[in-house]
Amino acid sequence: MINETMYARGAESSVIREIFSYGLERKAQIGADKVFDYSLGNPSVPAPPAVCASIERSLELPSDQLHGYTPAPGLPEVRTAVAESLNRRFGTAYTMADVFMTVGAAASVSMTLHAVTNPGDEVIVIAPYFPEYAVWIENAQATCVEVLADQTTFQIDPAAVAAAITPKTAAVIIDSPNNPTGAVYTRETLEALADVLNAANEGREQPIFLISDEPYREIVYGAEVPWVPSIYDDTIVCYSYSKSLSLPGERVGWVLVPNTMELAGRVMPAVAGAARTLGFVCAPALFQRVVVDCVDEPSDVEAYARNRTLLTRALSEYGYTYVEPDGAFYLWVKALEDDAEAFCERAKAYELLPVPSNSFGVPGWFRLGYCIDYDVIERSLPAWKRLAEDYRV
Ligand code: PLP
Repeated sequence: MINETMYARGAESSVIREIFSYGLERKAQIGADKVFDYSLGNPSVPAPPAVCASIERSLELPSDQLHGYTPAPGLPEVRTAVAESLNRRFGTAYTMADVFMTVGAAASVSMTLHAVTNPGDEVIVIAPYFPEYAVWIENAQATCVEVLADQTTFQIDPAAVAAAITPKTAAVIIDSPNNPTGAVYTRETLEALADVLNAANEGREQPIFLISDEPYREIVYGAEVPWVPSIYDDTIVCYSYSKSLSLPGERVGWVLVPNTMELAGRVMPAVAGAARTLGFVCAPALFQRVVVDCVDEPSDVEAYARNRTLLTRALSEYGYTYVEPDGAFYLWVKALEDDAEAFCERAKAYELLPVPSNSFGVPGWFRLGYCIDYDVIERSLPAWKRLAEDYRV
């Protein structure tokens, strides 16, 4: 029998992918330069030259090293390189035993959810949130509990999290710099969240785990991105090089279970078991080697910063309101009518392709991925202006 849940997920695809496909069709019909696709989070900045140099060096390796299986959690040298890089940056004392290489953050978060939840548990997400979280939580047979972020700052609302915690709460997922709002959670916010979780942990057999999904950690415009395990002990960090090194198609990232966590000795084997169960072992060997060489390679955020300035200045001039993004490459903008889906349909008439907020768990907003070419944003501005005027008449 075909599994109906899997069938439905495959047949539907995500709203973001649907908009992207529509954009491709439209580009074929009227010309690529006339369609302004803000749907995907595919980095427009090229991967740094150090990535290609590393690949060229690896090509000299014998085939069994270049293409062979690595150990399930990854090559010892890459796990060590990741641990040492974190130690240099955050003053920690991690070792390779704390790091499990993955096929991107999608695998990191899925594996972690499987490792720290049991069927029937609840996992809190902060809305608006990355839509795949709901799918991954459901796949772990847990329940996704949406908690609204503060609707002005889009920081976590600690009191709302406290109110949502039940005896079944197993984990909270946070994502900072945030997709879709661009908010970067402040130290103060994270400390307040830690206080809520520590208070809830009193008398519990196991702590509530904080899953910190951080694919955008390096993409910030001056804000501090605090190291979450130094604020809350039971934090598991999920990372990926998809955005920081512009390698989303290469599928490489990691899970870190800090050795400072009391239950690390049980959590890391559970992460490994989840990887095995899900078939996510042995991240791509070539790109594990790239990570060894590029672990400290800075992200090129300059292009995103320019795009952000261009877009935010123009949209505020046309009367749109948005959350000033401190990180990632998304702009979270208030729709010009209550129904975000209707707004995004109307935007299509101007060949503008934003993503309505409904898919992120809240009404009334839309997301713009500004990880696209500067000149596409520039050419789209008259359309944004006309769309706003259209709503005024
Ligand atoms: N988490 C968030 C918040 C994301 O935005 C994405 C991708 O856009 C992912 C996870 C998945 O990233 P990856 O490509 O590394 O699987």
